[in-house]
Amino acid sequence: MEQWQKDIKESIDDVETLEKMLGVPAEEVREIVEQYPMRITPHVFKLIREKGDSIWKQVVPTAEEDHPDAACDSEDPLHEEKDSPVPNLVHRYPDRVLLVITNQCPIYCRFCTRKRFVGSPGTLTPENLKQVVDYISAHTEIRDIILSGGDPLMVVDMLLERVLKALRAIPHLEIIRIGTRVPGTLPSRITENLCNMLKKYHPLYMNLHFNHPDEITPEVAKACGMLADAGIPLGSQTVLLEGVNDDPEVMKRLMQKLLSIRVKPYYIYQADLVKGTHHFRTRVEKGLKIISALRGHTSGMAVPHYVIDAPGGGGKVAILPQDTLLYLDDDQAIVKNYEEKTFKYSQPNVPKEVNKDAASFWVVPHDTD
Ligand SMILES: *Cc1c(COP(=O)(O)O)cnc(C)c1O
Repeated sequence: MEQWQKDIKESIDDVETLEKMLGVPAEEVREIVEQYPMRITPHVFKLIREKGDSIWKQVVPTAEEDHPDAACDSEDPLHEEKDSPVPNLVHRYPDRVLLVITNQCPIYCRFCTRKRFVGSPGTLTPENLKQVVDYISAHTEIRDIILSGGDPLMVVDMLLERVLKALRAIPHLEIIRIGTRVPGTLPSRITENLCNMLKKYHPLYMNLHFNHPDEITPEVAKACGMLADAGIPLGSQTVLLEGVNDDPEVMKRLMQKLLSIRVKPYYIYQADLVKGTHHFRTRVEKGLKIISALRGHTSGMAVPHYVIDAPGGGGKVAILPQDTLLYLDDDQAIVKNYEEKTFKYSQPNVPKEVNKDAASFWVVPHDTD
């Protein structure tokens, strides 16, 4: 057994151990854990400093998960099942698909979008893989696939390689992405063998899940360095979570620390309307404030896209603070910078009858002066 498999075995995944290790009364969360599995790796356990801190909230179940909430009443608010042409494959966008290759994760995030099935047994079967390959082969517009789950790095190297090899044989599939929380929660999984196997399947990208600067430890930095040295461009995805990271200073530190371990911030997600996760939701204004606190105040490299994954399967919609373009007309654009100073940009002259895009409007209500 490899070290990472031992680490999984030694994780907290039953309510008696949870009570012993963290003092949460077993009876308080027994039914929750029967419905929504729990797993806390030894690495993540060590990151918890006190009850209710940012790491605790992400992994320790609470009775809140059972409280009804009018807005969060769907198990599949993004309608992934409706957009699934063959089992485990989601085809929502014109040129890219998402494939769930396992239901297992290193930890079970309490706010998970796929809370409806994660943790139950199940890994892509050879028959299912064949269906997926046949579908993608027949749809030559698909040029990008995201391996997801569950967490794709929870399957052993041999199985993961079987999937990568089958996908790489499809000529029009240009890039393969892996979405994973493993480097930040089970860094022992990132081995030389894994990296040597992955780098045979370039162009391969990875998006790693991180929500708090405390998740970036020396072990995690080492794991990310190994992946980056294998030539894998690393991005990050963060979920905006009440009481975990809904603070501009915390987010700024997280984004800066990610860059320091060679991970480029990619997305901050507004929390989805998933049943059992309502207590993590924040207001959208919070996210806009966070983006405003990043843009201009720190490296542009550290500023991810802030997105709402539209309920009902509309896909990710990027949203931006609406107060940077103050005015636009044929002659000029007036813009406001991060210090709230305004500047004029003169437009190039284009004959009116040619300029089909001509606009003239105050974008933001504005006193003329
Ligand atoms: C997020 C997602 C993608 C990828 O979206 P990008 O914006 O290209 O990163 C593809 N398919 C589904 C179903 C998704 O949820």
